[in-house]
Amino acid sequence: MPAILIIEDEKDIVETLEYNLKKEGLKVWKALDGNDGLRQTEAKLPDLILLDLMLPGIDGLEVCRRLKRNPKTAAIPVIMLTAKGTETDKIVGLELGADDYITKPFSIKELIARVKTILRRYEKPAAAPKTVLKFKDLEIDTDRHIVLAGGKEIDLTAKEFQLLHYLAENKGRVFSRERLLDAVWGIEVAIETRTVDVHMRRLREKLGKAGAHLQTLRGVGYKFVDQF
Ligand code: CA
Repeated sequence: MPAILIIEDEKDIVETLEYNLKKEGLKVWKALDGNDGLRQTEAKLPDLILLDLMLPGIDGLEVCRRLKRNPKTAAIPVIMLTAKGTETDKIVGLELGADDYITKPFSIKELIARVKTILRRYEKPAAAPKTVLKFKDLEIDTDRHIVLAGGKEIDLTAKEFQLLHYLAENKGRVFSRERLLDAVWGIEVAIETRTVDVHMRRLREKLGKAGAHLQTLRGVGYKFVDQF
């Protein structure tokens, strides 16, 4: 489920956006000022950001500038929400790397359409789902629910299997703990993100040498790498 981070201080707008985005099956995170927006972006790595221009503290343009300068967050698409008649802001926003802008007051239909267009543009090309993921020293067979590391069958719990499979299927992509909780446990309740760390540690132990496929990015999350 793609996740959208809304960075906007006007609560009415946030509520309207949240309600409508959720109705479209999207996950929604909210930040009421620029600092919190930057912090949440780094911690959660959303799929798209709706960024208001007029924010208390750091304004939207500065938030956009910092997001695009940071290699961790530079690739996340940004739609800027601008007030009517601020042509310069739009231009500056786009120069800073925003993907699109929408003028307030906006039609929610129009905004949803833009969000969907951008998400589609960034979507990975649909590949036929493989039932066996094969790497040099690791095989993950989803049909038989079997993992082989160095030719040896590894006994994994259901969650460990799902976690490994999800990361391997999306190899090279970095996931925050929040995204992994959402993808594997599929719940929004406040399960501690430490749960992910515990499972990752056990997975690595069980996989032995092949555990090196699983990499930790300090302060960001985890990814699966092909080669190490
Ligand atoms: Ca505002």
